Amino acid sequence: MLRSVILAASRSSRVERLVATAPFSRDVVRRFVAGAKTDDALRATRELVDDGLAVTLDHLGEDTVTPDQASATRDEYLTLLRMLADAGLTPAAEVSVKLSALGQAFDEQLACDNARAICAAADAAGTTVTLDMEDHTTTDSTLDILAKLRKDFPSTGAVLQAYLRRTESDCRELASAGSRVRLCKGAYKEPESVAHQSAREVDKSYVRCLNILMSGDGYPMLATHDPRLIAIGEDRARWFDRGPDGFEFQMLYGIRPEEQARLVGEGYTVRTYVPYGDDWYGYLMRRLAERPANLAFFGRALASRK
Ligand SMILES: Cc1cc2nc3c(=O)[nH]c(=O)nc-3n(C[C@H](O)[C@H](O)[C@H](O)COP(=O)(O)OP(=O)(O)OC[C@H]3O[C@@H](n4cnc5c(N)ncnc54)[C@H](O)[C@@H]3O)c2cc1C
Repeated sequence: MLRSVILAASRSSRVERLVATAPFSRDVVRRFVAGAKTDDALRATRELVDDGLAVTLDHLGEDTVTPDQASATRDEYLTLLRMLADAGLTPAAEVSVKLSALGQAFDEQLACDNARAICAAADAAGTTVTLDMEDHTTTDSTLDILAKLRKDFPSTGAVLQAYLRRTESDCRELASAGSRVRLCKGAYKEPESVAHQSAREVDKSYVRCLNILMSGDGYPMLATHDPRLIAIGEDRARWFDRGPDGFEFQMLYGIRPEEQARLVGEGYTVRTYVPYGDDWYGYLMRRLAERPANLAFFGRALASRK
């Protein structure tokens, strides 16, 4: 019910105008999105890098349904990577890319070609790309495209979602030398047939996957704000003797900044995921709609900076 209401609101230009002008929304947006323009992304990146954080930048895109839209997204990433390199912000900053924004829903080959162009630009800029993971219907296609890209750009990163039942097996496949894998809980509403439904089962799966990645030969990227999972990550880092070059923590822009700073102070590599772009309304509303529990997530973040 709540989900339907939020989704309906996300498609209403009237509600968008209301939300966009409400003081509460402006605070939320400023907190979670770096800004609308490439310059805003660069400014936020500079501030984070100056504070000792690494960064991954996500250009917010909505409903890519034409090749022209996909090309525009690709070109924005090419511009961004050039500007990051010119500003001396690579390799500290890399980019996160959604294949759906590059045309995956209507032309997989086009999405792969666009992603390849972004990987080449990242390589030229001295940095890397991570392919975000979307809903489970895209997992096979995304991992296929990842395998193709990694032939030419071996440091291209994957994202695996602990809530999916298949993910332990995917972790085993990808825990090989040179393989960068971001492990997150997963943000989409998925059916019981493919995904663990309870928070407890998702957390247990996260720990099993974390153990596989941390004991493997690849480069784990532990994306979570969950204090218990962060503590387990720290414990496994000691156990498997992984230093700041051997794995990293990742968190979203505006969420638990003090915890991000604490981990940097402890000597860990911490990467902040920074979304930017005009389409912030859809981004925020979709995050809430995908999982109504995220309402509490955003609420907590507004209430506390801890
Ligand atoms: C860098 C990054 C990249 C991501 N990429 C993807 C992706 O490609 N695909 C995808 O599906 N999902 C992605 N996600 C989203 C992810 O799947 C989760 O939906 C999201 O991170 C929330 O899960 P959590 O692990 O933080 O745990 P939650 O269960 O949301 O939170 C766990 C606990 O963390 C603490 N906490 C959380 N927020 C706060 C706060 N503001 N203040 C105080 N305590 C807090 C609380 O104790 C809470 O109980 C990504 C997340 C990150 C951080």
